[in-house]
Amino acid sequence: MNKQFKAQNKRGIEWTDYTWNPVGGCQHQCRWEMPDGTIAECYAETVAERVARAAYPQGFEHHYWRPELLNQPLMHLEPSRIFLDSMSDLMGHWIPDEQVNQVLDVCRKAHWHTFQLLTKNAPRLKKFDFPSNVWVGVSAPPSFMFGKKLSLNHQARMATKMLDVLQRIDVPIKWMSIEPLSFDIAPLLVDSHLQWAVIGAATNGVKAYQPEPEWVENVLNVLGAQGTKIFFKGNLAWTPWREDFPAVQMAENIKNLEVLAV
Ligand code: SF4
Repeated sequence: MNKQFKAQNKRGIEWTDYTWNPVGGCQHQCRWEMPDGTIAECYAETVAERVARAAYPQGFEHHYWRPELLNQPLMHLEPSRIFLDSMSDLMGHWIPDEQVNQVLDVCRKAHWHTFQLLTKNAPRLKKFDFPSNVWVGVSAPPSFMFGKKLSLNHQARMATKMLDVLQRIDVPIKWMSIEPLSFDIAPLLVDSHLQWAVIGAATNGVKAYQPEPEWVENVLNVLGAQGTKIFFKGNLAWTPWREDFPAVQMAENIKNLEVLAV
């Protein structure tokens, strides 16, 4: 296995096996306001600007295209869940269509893997054809984007719009990352037809702020009624614990791999 690809697995994102970043850098400037008023910045930005500065010499908002990393999933034969672009947003408006399509072509070729894509720019999802092994997901809106504070109403409108776009994307697995669960989002999830959702607490460094128990209950009830699988992040204090994944896609990929091996 390519060493760089393997090393990225140690970042500690519990719901994936590997991260893959043929595109790096992001202009969304996400920030989250914690219940105590402190502001948390994007984890990828912290990594790029403080830990991995050599790989981000022009700062996190610069667009980095790394075609030399495109082959990584093809060289890794064990079927895996791969977080596509943990250090950027592949649907970001600054990323040329041809680069997005090159990345999706690799996903198509590496059909034995499951690629987990997340975006905060859902409208751009409509421009692309996604292979069926890409789980297409949207992230709950943060408290700030592009340097501007988003009111709760604005966040709710954004989430509704993103879920609406997601409904119209033709892929088997659609999902939402609700990290953090910072308001009662359950009413927006009625009829969302998600196959998967990830829920987490608000965090600022090592400090975690738990969501109101009824917000979690409400999400579990609304998504449970639709058969949505739920994954709890490790920062969420909740019993009974859940770490569920949608089963269909992985099984299908493995079946395809077996067919190839015959
Ligand atoms: S979209 Fe993702 S990578 Fe970009 S700033 Fe927001 S959280 Fe960070």
